[in-house]
Amino acid sequence: MKVDLHNHTYLCKHALGIMEDYVKKAIKEDIDVFGFSDHNPMNYDKKHRMENKYQVDYIDSFQKVKREFDSKIKLLFAYEFDYLDYGMNRDLLKDDVDYLIGSVHFINDFLVDDPKMIKQYAKGKNLFKDKEPTVLWENYFEQIRKMANTGYFNIVGHLDLVKILTLEDSPKKDVRLIAKDALKAIKKSGMAVEINASGLRKSVKDTYPSKLLLEEVYSYDIPITFGSDAHAPEHVGYKKNYCEKLAKKIGFSQCVYFEDKEMVKVKF
Ligand SMILES: [Zn+2]
Ligand SMILES: [Zn+2]
Repeated sequence: MKVDLHNHTYLCKHALGIMEDYVKKAIKEDIDVFGFSDHNPMNYDKKHRMENKYQVDYIDSFQKVKREFDSKIKLLFAYEFDYLDYGMNRDLLKDDVDYLIGSVHFINDFLVDDPKMIKQYAKGKNLFKDKEPTVLWENYFEQIRKMANTGYFNIVGHLDLVKILTLEDSPKKDVRLIAKDALKAIKKSGMAVEINASGLRKSVKDTYPSKLLLEEVYSYDIPITFGSDAHAPEHVGYKKNYCEKLAKKIGFSQCVYFEDKEMVKVKF
């Protein structure tokens, strides 16, 4: 079975395409279970998410494609939620969704998910006066740990996103040690970790997480799922065979999806 649970739409202002086009591409890619997980609306970082008033359009469009394509593909409804340590927006946490992806895009106000921040980071601005990347990575994984501990989320989004900022200068400390407490918290929370293909389209040229961390995920017996993190219909299914092969090589034979917050295990 082919599963893809991480997909955006034009509503979040930095993605292209309407739901119908994403679904058509998913069907073309022989995807069996496809989830929309657009960025949660909130009054922060508003240029990367839908306005509150458009949430109703998000819901309506989903119901429309679900009616139209129900016989061809299983469609799921979700949000990718920003975990914010210093005061997370809790709206929608209890909404009627199939699952929630918990992602760390910010450490305090420092944006992790943007190569433009590499310069800021190199200058040692904001939080990271010590330029050694270990500090940044430890801060980032501490946020992941706290996110997992909230118990609100079903899937960890792009587990090692932070590597986007340290391509030239990786941490001196073993990243498996840096991620250890976060992985323990993920295991305890019952969350799954996605294999996110978006890094393969970007300068990192790697999956999130890396093979090394994915082996750790396997050793903790944490379930996995797949996400193309599509920000345009043509991204749907991007390198899905590569991601599945990588997972199989490590030892995984099952992935999961969530329906009504219930985990469903399937072979891939
Ligand atoms: Zn996005
Ligand atoms: Zn994200």
